[in-house]
Amino acid sequence: MKCDICGNDLAVTFLKKIVGTYVKDDKGKLHPICRACQKNLQEKDKILAQLK
Ligand SMILES: [Zn+2]
Repeated sequence: MKCDICGNDLAVTFLKKIVGTYVKDDKGKLHPICRACQKNLQEKDKILAQLK
């Protein structure tokens, strides 16, 4: 799985959870976001603004 913002591969924990987060856009689609992008952008609104 890749981060939807930077395109980097996402690390996955042994519980199959991604190291990062998911944000849901206004169409209800989930986007995986890596921890670095999550840290850079902080707010969900800013993350969504980076998605196409
Ligand atoms: Zn990223």
